[in-house]
Amino acid sequence: MLPISFEFYPPKTDEQHAQFDRTVRKLKAHAPQFMSVTFGAGGSTLSHTPETVQRLRGEHGVDGVPHLTCVGGSREEIRTLLKLYRALGCTRIVALRGDLPSGMARSGDLRYASELVRLIRDEHGEHFHVEVAAYPETHPQSEDARIGLGHFKTKVEAGASGAITQYFYNADAYFRFVDDARAQGIDLPIVPGIMPIANFSQLRRFSEACGAQIPRWIDQRMRAFGDDAEAVREFAADVVAGLCRRLVEGGAPALHFYTLNLAKPTQTVLQRLA
Ligand code: FAD
Repeated sequence: MLPISFEFYPPKTDEQHAQFDRTVRKLKAHAPQFMSVTFGAGGSTLSHTPETVQRLRGEHGVDGVPHLTCVGGSREEIRTLLKLYRALGCTRIVALRGDLPSGMARSGDLRYASELVRLIRDEHGEHFHVEVAAYPETHPQSEDARIGLGHFKTKVEAGASGAITQYFYNADAYFRFVDDARAQGIDLPIVPGIMPIANFSQLRRFSEACGAQIPRWIDQRMRAFGDDAEAVREFAADVVAGLCRRLVEGGAPALHFYTLNLAKPTQTVLQRLA
């Protein structure tokens, strides 16, 4: 089995903390390379990423990896977080631009993820393994795939060590993206981001917002299952495990799972891959 990693969002309420701990304990059994924690843009979630990373590294004894975004933070706030993560023993970081929540005006001192990568390299040298985001189906704000790839290259040249993709259900989009990147001289590992399907209507909403396409054949079958939750779960796990198998056979260097803090959907896929 290839190296795997898991992504979480930082829990806030007592109930979310309990679920987070349960999920981490279950997924730890799959020996992930690391577990990463997303970073919300500004305000209430700002402080939850560091404490969640600390909890992963301390209480759970896993390599907790922070996501860090440009959005909503000044250069100084970003510097403070980088120092904190270094003090916590982190050597890997996921560097992103982030998205401003609607209605939030403050955009931060840095405009693009490439500027954040450069800041990390300028101030911390090679200390951090810096992951950046990649979009096999093209970022929704990119004018087209070629321009998007050019911006990805800028991020890589700023000093990224690896990339994790937005999720997708079309393996060919990933393979083509990797081929196009290699043709541009981009040779870092590009790890597919995998979204196990837990709640299909939620996934539909997410996918519209982030520009990930749900193939029509999947959408139509999901609709046909209606309220048959068992049939939905089985089909979803088959689809995602099939995608993972194709990616592994086609040379993906690792798999990164978006867990949404739930163990079962990811575990069901991993069991089918074992
Ligand atoms: P960038 O690489 O900066 O690109 C953003 C857009 O700007 C793209 O359309 C790009 O083509 C364009 N662009 C880049 N450089 C230039 C330039 N010089 N001139 C003009 N246009 C340019 N979001 C969060 O808020 N928190 C998270 O923790 C988080 N984790 C994520 C993890 C992964 C693995 C992925 C794939 C996404 C994650 N996101 C997260 C979402 C991400 O922040 C959004 O997709 C965001 O819109 C873009 O972030 P980016 O780092 O790819 O930005």
